[in-house]
Amino acid sequence: MGYENIHETMKDLNLEGMESVLDAEMQRWEKDEDVLGLIERLLKAQKQANDEKKYNSRLKYSGLPFSKKIEDFDFTFQPSIDKKQIKELETLRFMYEKENIIFLGPPGVGKTHLAVGIGMKAIEEGKKVYFINSIKLIEKMKQAFSSMTYERLLRFYKSLDLLIIDELGYLPLDIQGAKLLFELVESKYEHSSIIVTSNRSFNEWNKIFTDEVIASAVLDRLVHHSTIINIRGKSYRLKEKQKTGLIGVKISEEKEGVVYDK
Ligand code: ADP
Ligand code: MG
Repeated sequence: MGYENIHETMKDLNLEGMESVLDAEMQRWEKDEDVLGLIERLLKAQKQANDEKKYNSRLKYSGLPFSKKIEDFDFTFQPSIDKKQIKELETLRFMYEKENIIFLGPPGVGKTHLAVGIGMKAIEEGKKVYFINSIKLIEKMKQAFSSMTYERLLRFYKSLDLLIIDELGYLPLDIQGAKLLFELVESKYEHSSIIVTSNRSFNEWNKIFTDEVIASAVLDRLVHHSTIINIRGKSYRLKEKQKTGLIGVKISEEKEGVVYDK
């Protein structure tokens, strides 16, 4: 097989990772070096390319709204957060234990950032992650319910290693929405993990759900095996805007010390 043919065949076999380093590796290869050394380097290049491709497709599929990691989070700005606790969550032990995480707190304190950071870590570890805003989630479930695709959608959510439901409680849920959410939470209970972010405290959840019985059933399943991170502090968004002079509001005017009960 001629030189060009080798390149073409590698491409045909989807071995682009190997093909892209072939020339450089051939040049690097000393005649007295064991040929296994060359083969190993080519295989490693291919393996790396495959892993990258898989990572990128998992990341795209996850629907994460931005790419921010835990290491991009400024813990000094948010002293109510225990950095050690977040680092422990980043080990993903909670996923292994099929536990949940609930981030509570006012707007701008980093709930979504931390959820995304943990999600990105899970993607790096090869996990199937899916991020969705709670309003969109309920809409999708209602649509699926009326078009007979509900069971399939529920199976999909159940199959995820980590489902991130963002901004729960931003708008109230009607009875059907609350029941659908209950079924979802119930299907993942002790099976796979959920992260929820919410700017409502637990005793406000009755108001979100309109039905007290469903509210406590959802809370019960979510909270049973979970870590609750209660963030009390200032909005990072306001800090950023203040820095750029976009607003004249003093950060200290923000509501502070709101107790987001466990
Ligand atoms: P929330 O979900 O609580 O409303 P976000 O997580 O969306 O807040 O945070 C708002 C913005 O501020 C995001 O761009 C986020 O990355 C950033 N942010 C929030 N808190 C911090 C922090 N402590 N360090 C760095 N960036 C932060
Ligand atoms: Mg948010």
